[in-house]
Amino acid sequence: MSDTKVYLLDGGSLVLDGFHVFWNRGPGGEIRFPVYSILIEHAEGRFLIDSGYDYDHVMKVLPFEKPQQSKAQTIPGALAELGLEPKDVGVVFNSHFHFDHCGGNKYLPHAKRICHKLEVPQTCSPEPFEVLGYSDVSFSVEAAETRGMTDQLIDGATRENTTFEGIEGDVELAKGVKLFFTPGHSIGHYNLLGEFGTRKPILFSIDAAYTQKSLETLCQASFHIDPDAGVQSMRRVKQLAEDHEADLMFSHDMENFKTYKTGTQFYR
Ligand SMILES: [Zn+2]
Repeated sequence: MSDTKVYLLDGGSLVLDGFHVFWNRGPGGEIRFPVYSILIEHAEGRFLIDSGYDYDHVMKVLPFEKPQQSKAQTIPGALAELGLEPKDVGVVFNSHFHFDHCGGNKYLPHAKRICHKLEVPQTCSPEPFEVLGYSDVSFSVEAAETRGMTDQLIDGATRENTTFEGIEGDVELAKGVKLFFTPGHSIGHYNLLGEFGTRKPILFSIDAAYTQKSLETLCQASFHIDPDAGVQSMRRVKQLAEDHEADLMFSHDMENFKTYKTGTQFYR
């Protein structure tokens, strides 16, 4: 595991009201938060965990989230900073299919694709309160066709090159790259633990806990399918961090994100 490197690909930022970030707790007011993807260079291959949001999609469908994203903050742009191209990614794993976690998938048609087995069906028929979360269906021809949103598909997208391998339960994606099933925020949500040879493991909460304060207060975001499961998953994230003596990294926490290594810097 000593040769494993983890890069955070800065994907720009979005804005939500405080009552969405901290459900029924707030305080209200605009909160600008980061979006990033995780690139793992591993002896078994190059893994991309999530793929950020698509700027044009957000401007068209959710402009009130005020996206700020440079070219270098797109998936092709962030990979280029590392001297890589999208075709250099062997496996893409999506923690769930909310638009800020799958917007760059369309650049990776050649990669193996993995997600929880219930996430594509949920994208095909989301609950009414999930429609905006699951609004970017460019990653799946099946979802785009089911929802009559094929205008989002890019040239070359086919059922074959947008089909996912579905998993369930906890899964070790590669040696020391562990996925923990933490539903609630979405039906098939996963978070991620990366183990290294030389440093403490890193536990990425993904959207089980947007921020450090979210986890400390067990206050999930207003976007969820099952808030009870969401609280249980937050407790599980705390326990996992303890059990593995891991450093925690949060998905949408600007204050903490500023201290994370991004760009060409990496964790190993
Ligand atoms: Zn998110």
